[in-house]
Amino acid sequence: MINKIEHIGIAVKDIKKSNELFEKLFGKPHYKIEEVVSEGVKTSFFKVGANKIELLEATNGDSPIAKFINKRGEGIHHIAFKVNDIEAEISRLKEEGFVVLNEKPKIGADNKLVVFLHPKSTNGVLIELCQEIANKE
Ligand code: ZN
Repeated sequence: MINKIEHIGIAVKDIKKSNELFEKLFGKPHYKIEEVVSEGVKTSFFKVGANKIELLEATNGDSPIAKFINKRGEGIHHIAFKVNDIEAEISRLKEEGFVVLNEKPKIGADNKLVVFLHPKSTNGVLIELCQEIANKE
């Protein structure tokens, strides 16, 4: 089942400058910076009430964020929804005709398993599904 919006991802050219900008906007600093090497991105997260905003900067020219910014400029990149069972959602959505970008969930930022749906199958909106990775102690 798809639950609440987990976060909204915004593609930025310069995460340092954007952190300052969004700090002014929200009146508080980001709580986390994290690099996801496999995706070629550096991310930072802000908590805004019950919601989160993720800023994404490309760390190399082949990064999906670099390609997005070259094509469309900075702006809203994806909407992420929280799911409880990502494997079940992948098979359900594939059966419904959605195109998933990765068949197997990947490890994304912020301690999550993630999968993306191709924007061609979702009215031009890149959708991320994410499931919290259980902390094993
Ligand atoms: Zn995201």
